[in-house]
Amino acid sequence: MVKETALYDVLGVSPDANDAQIKKAYRVNALKYHPDKNQHSPEAAEKFKDVSHAYEILSDSQKREVYDRFGQEGLSGAGDMGGMNGSAAEALFSQFFGGAGGFGGMFGGAGGRPSGPRRSRDIVHALRVTLEDLYKGKVSKLALTRTVTCAKCHGKGGKDGAVKKCATCNGSGSVTFQRGMGHIIQQFQSVCQDCRGEGEIVKDKDRCKECKGKKTINEKKILEVNIDKGMSHNQKITFAEQGDEGPDILPGDVVFVIDEQPHERFTRKKDDLYYHAKVDLLTALAGGSIAIKHLDDEWLKVDIIPGETIQPGLVKVIEGRGMPSYRHHNHGNLYIEFEVEFPGNNFATLEQLALLEKVLPARPALGIPEDAMTEDVVLQDVDPTQQERARTQVNDDEDDDEPGAERAQCTSQ
Ligand SMILES: [Zn+2]
Ligand SMILES: [Zn+2]
Repeated sequence: MVKETALYDVLGVSPDANDAQIKKAYRVNALKYHPDKNQHSPEAAEKFKDVSHAYEILSDSQKREVYDRFGQEGLSGAGDMGGMNGSAAEALFSQFFGGAGGFGGMFGGAGGRPSGPRRSRDIVHALRVTLEDLYKGKVSKLALTRTVTCAKCHGKGGKDGAVKKCATCNGSGSVTFQRGMGHIIQQFQSVCQDCRGEGEIVKDKDRCKECKGKKTINEKKILEVNIDKGMSHNQKITFAEQGDEGPDILPGDVVFVIDEQPHERFTRKKDDLYYHAKVDLLTALAGGSIAIKHLDDEWLKVDIIPGETIQPGLVKVIEGRGMPSYRHHNHGNLYIEFEVEFPGNNFATLEQLALLEKVLPARPALGIPEDAMTEDVVLQDVDPTQQERARTQVNDDEDDDEPGAERAQCTSQ
């Protein structure tokens, strides 16, 4: 189950679409709504940005996981992930279709990659956290595999001079070809087959042994994630520049998003906790104690003072026993809503029940006017099937009640 489907809807795919289907949907929609193809159409421009944004999230397995679980809300605030502006959409388009704009000469080119080193995407992880962890604080050690520049070849992929620029594509990694459609000649770009889009060629024997010419290696790293007391759902913990890096790519951030799990006993509202307490009738009327196991495994013995009647639905507060606030660790309140549990049928003899008359307030008067007609009736247990039948009958009556209602009015006049 995904939380929302908006991004999938933009691409016109279902939430269980695989990577290839998402890629294909982006290709189709990005070409259809590209601004060069839809001049003077602000709607298309918006659609192009939406399609680009959806693809950026859904093509990244980590961002997609966060989106599926938390929706757009989970993505906002972490780096570059709120919507998308036109130039970012254009850059993604160029990247996807290779080099300088997929429409090539036909649409006059579309920019190309920005110069200077790029930053890798932020890596976003959802972090399941219990209410206990958020109450007490916790350090979680998480293993992360990241791509780093190969130290042996300093990101060159081989010995000095061993890496040559690909002659076929002149180092761009893509080749352009033309296709005639009637009088129009369209240009297309595709990945260079000789260097497989790398733009460079290395002889096998000169390849760096460490990274096998890939320039980067995978590195396993343990991150200590400090879950502070009082942190809240969707709060982000950022490890700056711990994402993937490469020879020309600066590392992005690794971001953990707190996913507070629902608790079986407590409900949290900001720094306050809510607890639903069941109390027996005797304690509710005559006092006693109830016990509450708190989030740090400490037990609270809550005294109900004799004479203080606990009514069903009554809410009381224990001050300073809620969640610690973030950073300052001042505690909020613990609110207790009472449910009174009554004893079952025949819990006492008639003689014992007569004793209740001595202590409980007297029965109130019935309030039937003296001159009213009265009839004694008996309560019976409800049979659900019979009730259903009765309801259906009422509905049938309502269907044809208009003439009847009129008649009734006439007679009453
Ligand atoms: Zn290497
Ligand atoms: Zn090439």
